[in-house]
Amino acid sequence: MNGTVALVTGGSRGIGAATAVRLAREGADVALTYVRDKDAADDVAGRIRALGRRALALRADSADADEASAAVERAAEGLGELDVLVNNAGVGLLGPIESLSLADIDRVLAVNVRGVFLASRAAAARMGPGGRIITIGTCMTQRVPGPGGTLYATGKSALVGLTKALARELGERGITANIVHPGPIDTDMNPADGPYAAGQVALTAVGRFGTADEVASAVAYLAGAEAAYVTGAEFSVDGGHAA
Ligand code: NDP
Repeated sequence: MNGTVALVTGGSRGIGAATAVRLAREGADVALTYVRDKDAADDVAGRIRALGRRALALRADSADADEASAAVERAAEGLGELDVLVNNAGVGLLGPIESLSLADIDRVLAVNVRGVFLASRAAAARMGPGGRIITIGTCMTQRVPGPGGTLYATGKSALVGLTKALARELGERGITANIVHPGPIDTDMNPADGPYAAGQVALTAVGRFGTADEVASAVAYLAGAEAAYVTGAEFSVDGGHAA
């Protein structure tokens, strides 16, 4: 990926941070967004620079329509035209449907759906041949293992439709669009020692949580030249959660 430019949304922690560093290791210059934790974002940018790549940490809230689009422009202005967009920023909110307020619904869909749509729109307007749009979905689009997932599964399932439609729309321009579905991955959002961890482990075939690096590895494959014929695909990194 030498000479390419990538933007990873929500790149200051967890899967996004692992992905940003992995893409840099593959040779990309990487911009990453964050909202709350500037120090963590700067730390990831520092790790990318230590690999000899350029890095840009951008404060950009995916819940804000203008900021979600502008992150793509700002990344391109800072590092050069975008080759890879990784739509990773996301929020989780589980609970019975009757407990979800309108504000909950709007907030989750703004980050998990609208922000992804707007960043993808901005990227599609600029990307040239070889472009890659990779979105982080969830194993819950394939199997909802219990109650409490209505809002999260609704939003993330919309990204499957977006991905397939983007693949059709951008394919002839040499741009691919794919979605990666992580299973339970040990991050701040879903710690492997959290209260719901044991139940999630029991749902996997391999009997453990996955790591952010294991998801980043799949993203790196999809971002690379070898994956030029892979588009519109749902790519599970879920320890067999959907099996
Ligand atoms: P974390 O909560 O550990 O990290 C979230 C990252 O996103 C942080 O860098 C955070 O930055 C950033 N972020 C949060 N809200 C926004 C926002 N509104 N705009 C921009 N950036 C934001 O999450 P994970 O790494 O676990 O999850 C990453 C993705 O993977 C999400 O889309 C999630 O839904 C998905 N996923 C995760 C699974 C898991 O088990 N962990 C399983 C399946 C899917 P900051 O702190 O600075 O705000």
